[in-house]
Amino acid sequence: MSERPIGRRLLGWYDHHGRKTLPWKKKRDAYRIWVSEIMLQQTQVATVIPYFQRFIARFPDVRALARAKLDTVLHLWTGLGYYARARNLHRAAQIIARQHDGAFPRSLEAVTELPGVGRSTAGAILALAFGQRHAILDGNVKRVLARYHALDTPLNQRATEERLWKLAEQHTPRTRVADYTQAIMDLGATVCVRAKPKCEACPLRAGCRAYQRGATHQYPVRAAARTAPIKTTRMLMIRDDRGRVLLTRRPPTGVWGGLWGFPECADDDARRWCRENFGLDIRTETAWPVLRHLFSHFHLEITPIPARVVGDTRRAMENAETVWYNVRRPDQRGLSAPVKRLLEELRASRSFSKDT
Ligand code: SF4
Repeated sequence: MSERPIGRRLLGWYDHHGRKTLPWKKKRDAYRIWVSEIMLQQTQVATVIPYFQRFIARFPDVRALARAKLDTVLHLWTGLGYYARARNLHRAAQIIARQHDGAFPRSLEAVTELPGVGRSTAGAILALAFGQRHAILDGNVKRVLARYHALDTPLNQRATEERLWKLAEQHTPRTRVADYTQAIMDLGATVCVRAKPKCEACPLRAGCRAYQRGATHQYPVRAAARTAPIKTTRMLMIRDDRGRVLLTRRPPTGVWGGLWGFPECADDDARRWCRENFGLDIRTETAWPVLRHLFSHFHLEITPIPARVVGDTRRAMENAETVWYNVRRPDQRGLSAPVKRLLEELRASRSFSKDT
């Protein structure tokens, strides 16, 4: 198998076609590059750009992020998904402020110790910010290398991953590492795309085994499909007579960790459950249509159930984990995408307008 480094061709291509105007590329600053790399995990560039700009405007440096309240960070992350990324960024900023005197660490070991930063992300940050020679292996790079070398085993196998890391290291040049790193990410994002790669525009075409075999659609080899399990939940949208809605904070870990949402009721008897958990008497209304939310490893079917408080609202006291949320004048707190959407639908509903 030819393992001729692809760096020279990629750099030539990057000089003409690379994405050099992305907002995190304007300044070579490790903090900005780190934030962008975390946002770009699992999220496309076009979606990330406005989030990145708002985030940097609010937290221009690592100390500002370290000082921020987690709720403010989660609020700015609302809609971007994979909220563990935001919690880890916040925690990592506090570590950098405390243990590294606010300066982004420069060793691979120290960077991979930060919460939420794996080997590939650490390599990318150090290469892009400081020009250090480290290989990277994000999803785009895996796809490019798996096609270029026509690897015949699925990406999720450990042996494939090890092989890919070796190839990634062999291909990483000794000079212009920052440009090369950006180039291979750009190639995967814009040319060697998941469906219908644009091989005619690819600088690696001459050496690409998948292309030579006329079999780009067969690579990367897919693992046998697994059906994602379906979980269900019922969200109680409890309103008081002032049109406020009861929200609770989720536990700090797990999906939507630390975000605010509607109380989720596992009991068939929502009225009894509400009385026991919040000391509130409620009257439930007809459930709204089921909302389906896709996570990477399962599907969640949400049944939204509107409900009204009967009697005294004050019995559900506000505390660090419970709040009466003013839908008309929302404050800054992190909300999951389905909760945000349900709140918007609630605000637009006719029955809500009548109340407020
Ligand atoms: S030739 Fe096609 S399949 Fe091969 S690396 Fe380029 S875009 Fe990807």
